Amino acid sequence: MNLNSKIETLENIYKIYDDFAGTLDIACKRYCSLCCTVNVTMTTLEGRKIAKSIIPEEKKNLFDKIRCSSSMQRFRPRETINMLAELSMEEGFVPEENNAFPGQCPLLINHECAIYNERPFGCRCFVSKQNCSESGIATVDDFVLTVNNIFLQVLEHVDAGGFYGNLADVLLFLENTENRDNLLSSKMINPLSTLIKNHHLKILMIPPEHREKAQPILAALYKLKY
Ligand code: SF4
Ligand code: SF4
Repeated sequence: MNLNSKIETLENIYKIYDDFAGTLDIACKRYCSLCCTVNVTMTTLEGRKIAKSIIPEEKKNLFDKIRCSSSMQRFRPRETINMLAELSMEEGFVPEENNAFPGQCPLLINHECAIYNERPFGCRCFVSKQNCSESGIATVDDFVLTVNNIFLQVLEHVDAGGFYGNLADVLLFLENTENRDNLLSSKMINPLSTLIKNHHLKILMIPPEHREKAQPILAALYKLKY
């Protein structure tokens, strides 16, 4: 699949998720930013869409902001979601802890996301039933967590051949034209120790009690081009 088809599939995946999120009773809204931290992760395909929107001259300073923030401690995953799905089948497997660091996302400016329409799935799927800024804690249904995992697994599958990592690491990597071109021609070699290779989807993580309810979402995702 060429890059344009992948981007089209990515946009359709976001649309299916936004339709699903539209059916939920959630407190999240634009300009609510307590959850906008340095710990967001994403795929290089998602990153390319964001990087392209930052490249025009008037937004280029965002790369400087990301660079300035890159000395901050942030969550850097060691496993992708599809790696976790496979590993979880092994006896005694213990998943890595998702260490949350307190810094603010470098793309948050005056409580507003500078790339809101292009924001990655890791931001779109933050859907809390109660307002965190009032309660101090996000509340998410178990079924929504299952759906989020399905989408994360599919997003990684679409970008098999690409990489996964922290938002700042992915965007700084894709600031480089050659890296973006290599992504376009699927010739990308492992760039940095901070990014990990995406894996194909082999097994979906859906608990038995959610399998029936998840069918309409799976049916919509299966219709897309991969
Ligand atoms: S997760 Fe919390 S802080 Fe983030 S948008 Fe939703 S309510 Fe606001
Ligand atoms: S990319 Fe945008 S929505 Fe996501 S954490 Fe950063 S500022 Fe918030």
